[in-house]
Order: sequence, then structure tokens, then C-alpha cells
Amino acid sequence: MAAPLPLAPQGEDPTFAELLAGRPHLSLHPAEGLRVEEVPLARIAQAVGTPAWVYSAGALRSRARALKAALSAAGLDAGIHYAVKANANLAVLRVLAEEGLGADVVSEGELRAARRSGIPASAIVFSGVGKTERELRLALAEDILQINLESAEEAERLSALAASLGRVARVALRVNPDVDARTHAKITTGRSENKFGVALAEAPALYARLAALPGLRPVGVAVHIGSQITAGVSAFRDAYAALARLVGALRAAGLPVERVDCGGGLGIPYRDETPPPPEALAGAIRATLGGLGLPVMLEPGRWIAGPAGVLLASVILQKQGAPPVPAGGPRRRFLVVDAAMNELMRPAMYEAWHGILPVAPAAHAAPLSPADVVGPVCETGDTFARGRALPAMEPGDLVAFLDAGAYGATMSSTYNLRPLAPEVLVDGARFAVVRDRQPHEALFAGQRLPPWIGAPAPGGVS
Ligand SMILES: *Cc1c(COP(=O)(O)O)cnc(C)c1O
Repeated sequence: MAAPLPLAPQGEDPTFAELLAGRPHLSLHPAEGLRVEEVPLARIAQAVGTPAWVYSAGALRSRARALKAALSAAGLDAGIHYAVKANANLAVLRVLAEEGLGADVVSEGELRAARRSGIPASAIVFSGVGKTERELRLALAEDILQINLESAEEAERLSALAASLGRVARVALRVNPDVDARTHAKITTGRSENKFGVALAEAPALYARLAALPGLRPVGVAVHIGSQITAGVSAFRDAYAALARLVGALRAAGLPVERVDCGGGLGIPYRDETPPPPEALAGAIRATLGGLGLPVMLEPGRWIAGPAGVLLASVILQKQGAPPVPAGGPRRRFLVVDAAMNELMRPAMYEAWHGILPVAPAAHAAPLSPADVVGPVCETGDTFARGRALPAMEPGDLVAFLDAGAYGATMSSTYNLRPLAPEVLVDGARFAVVRDRQPHEALFAGQRLPPWIGAPAPGGVS
């Protein structure tokens, strides 16, 4: 049996109407076409051009609130530390800061973004398997809430640094519970062969070592088992149950534990997945960790930001494929759009499926036929969808790639020297450009010729 083509998964794709029904901040206006909240995407395209990222502030707020509500309904004392790597736009962070969310950061840049957005240092967690000395110095200087340690080696390094600066770092120990989150291999992080965390069996001795080291104060334990987890809560439950047993062992050894960090990873529906709702996650936390009497922390990224954003693009042209071999049958239809893998990397990187909706109202009632939706970049992997049912489209027609609010703009590059796309925040009937399109000059900023290589003669475009 032939393997399924990537990006054309088994089963029926959801219809346009089904995609809209699951995304309350999107709607189809009979005259204005696809809208984010009350703003037509066509109006945004006119104002900023394409490609462009468009985020819904209302969706960000309602998702943050739904998660908070689920946690408190389960009787949990829980802090939400939004994973900045999902979407690090300062306006997005500001909206979430206003909702009272803290931050989970993995670099100096993310720590600075969180602080600039008004997230207090006392609500920031620093995660990651390889924090540099410079990053740790900044975390210590800011006196952030918690640094999650991922190895004995890192603990020794941080201890020496903190002691030399006369600081005491609050640290949590990230353990690798060796559970299978049943997600894509590139985003599973909780197996023993992954680079993350320390082995569960070695955690008690290492935690005791943390308590003995100068400059460190162990405050808890942490896990993060993967991302886009949709196959029920059993992997979360297994990981949290392991954490609960670990906390029991630490307490029995007389070691202090003040909180438990449950990580992120809750998935969202891109196509036909049915991820567990936040209530189920809260239930799993309560069932496993609820008896400890400790506050818990969550680090959601995708669940908060993913559904809140779209990538808006224009059709450049529709191209007929080569005559099929063997002869007979239709040629492939390629819709070449002005967004590419350098903007939305997920299809190329994870074989991810994204809903694609035409923006024009008439296109939602037009006959459909299969199309491969591709970008202009010189890579076959620059393919957003294969055999997707879409109407006939003309150059300039707009399409929206759905659920692009997380791991979209933050994973962008300027490959093929394509400037970074602008970001727009919609809030009710208002919208604002919250990041300009990168000018071409910026692509060359900071570059210079070595003095022994002659400069070109002046003239031409620059
Ligand atoms: C990436 C990451 C997260 C967020 O993951 P999501 O799947 O976006 O919720 C949380 N914690 C850590 C340590 C991470 O690396």
C-alpha cells in the first residue's frame, strides 16, 4: 500500500462551514467576506498588504479566561505562565499580561520581551536545556520567579554563578517522566531518549544536591512532555502521577517542595483532532497532584495563541501542473500564494495541516476542486496543502491560513531574502499594525564587505 501523501491525510477534510463553526472569532460576512472579529480581512490586506499575520485580541482573552476558569472550577491554585515561544509579539504578550498571565521563557530575547510587556519578573519561569551564562546572569539580576534546571551540570553552573553574585536562585528540577505523548516525533519531549530533563530515578538525589548547593533554593519539580497533545489526557496523567510520587519521595526525605510545574502541550484542532478540553486537563491535574496541597503552574503556548491567529496571503497565480505520467487524468492545479514556508514553517517541518479559507464571500459557495497550495520558495517542502478542495482563484484573491497564531511568526525566517511579514492585532471593530513589514533595507542591515574586497560601482536598486 502506498504511503499517504504528506499534507493530504486520511479521511475527509472539514468543510469551510465546519472550519468556521469551530472558530468563534472568525465569521463570513455576506458582503465583506471573511472577518476576524468585526474586521474584514480584505480591509487588512488593503492596509498592510500580504502576507500578513492577523491576531484576535478577543480570542486571546477568551482562551486565557477559559483556561483560568477550568483550573479554578477544579479547585486548583494554579498560575498560568504563557510559553512566549508560541507567539512573542509584544502586543500579544501585553494582552495576555493584562489577563494576569505570567511567562515561560527560553531565551534572553523572550525574557526581555516578557519584561517589556509588563509581565513581572515574579511571574517568569526560565526553561530550556541550554541556558547560557549570559542568560542566567540576566535571570538572576531580574530575580525571576523560577529557573527550571534540566541537568546536574546546569545546577552546578548556576550554583557557582549565583553564589559568585551573592544571589539565591529559586529553581525547579525538570524531570523526564518517560511517557509517550503520542504527538509528532519532532515535538515529543518526555521520552527518556529526548534531550530534556533529568531521569525520574535520579531526581531525588539531584534535588537533595540542589538543596545543599550554595546559591540555589529548590522550590519544586517540573515536566513538559511535548506539544500538540491531542490523544486524551492519559499522557498528562501519567506524567503528573510520576511527579506526585516524586514529591512524596522528596518530602519523605525532608526536602522542601513549594510548587509543581505541569508544563504545556495541550493540543488544538487543526483539522479533525479532538484534543481534551482544558476541563479534562484540570481534572487530570486535580486527580494526580490535587492531594499534595501545593500550587501548580501551567505553561501553555499553542492552546492560548494558535487558534487566535491567521496568516493572510494573496494568490499570485494559478498554474497547471505537468501532464500526468502515465498519460490521462487531470493535471495538478497549483495555487501559488505570496506566503511561504519562511512565514509558516509548520507544514514543511511537521507535515502539519492548516485550514485554508478563501476571503471572498462568493468563494464560499463556488464549486470546489483539488489544488496544491504552494509558496514561491525554492523548496518542494514549500507546500501548504496537497489536493485541497478549493474554488477557482484569480491572481490577487485572498486566502487565510487558520490556526497560525502559535509557532507561526516566531518560527519565520527571511529565507530566499523574503522580509518578515507584518503583524496586525484585531480587537472588536478596531485593528492596529503591531509589527511593521520588514523593509528590504533591514535585510542588509549590519552586513558589510571586508576592507580588502572592493565595493561595487554605485547605481541600480538597493
Ligand atoms: C514549548 C514549551 C511549552 C509550550 O508548549 P505548548 O505545546 O505550546 O503548550 C511549555 N513549556 C516548555 C518547557 C516548553 O518547551
